[in-house]
Amino acid sequence: MHEMSIAMSIVDAVAAKAGEEHAQKVNGIELEVGKLSGVEIESLRFCFSAVAKNTIVEGADLAVREVQPLGECSECGRRFPMSFHYAKCDSCGSFKTDLLSGRELSIKSITIE
Ligand SMILES: [Zn+2]
Repeated sequence: MHEMSIAMSIVDAVAAKAGEEHAQKVNGIELEVGKLSGVEIESLRFCFSAVAKNTIVEGADLAVREVQPLGECSECGRRFPMSFHYAKCDSCGSFKTDLLSGRELSIKSITIE
């Protein structure tokens, strides 16, 4: 499962960071997830609590912020919200558009004790 491996890498990264900081406990993790990342947030939460069990990350609050995908037209330079990977520019109608953001999955911050 896709979300399971993501959850494992989040827990690994956070546990490593918490270890570096000599933390006793991780209270919260803030994630930023692009709407086109293909990640099921509910499923990620479920996997996260399973993976975090018996680690320093167990019980941490997972705050997920969804990022609205943003595209840019390479013909006219217009930036606009995209709902699909390939979208038409809403200004000039060109299909030469790039996805600037919306696929990311990143840890924005962690709160430790
Ligand atoms: Zn355009």
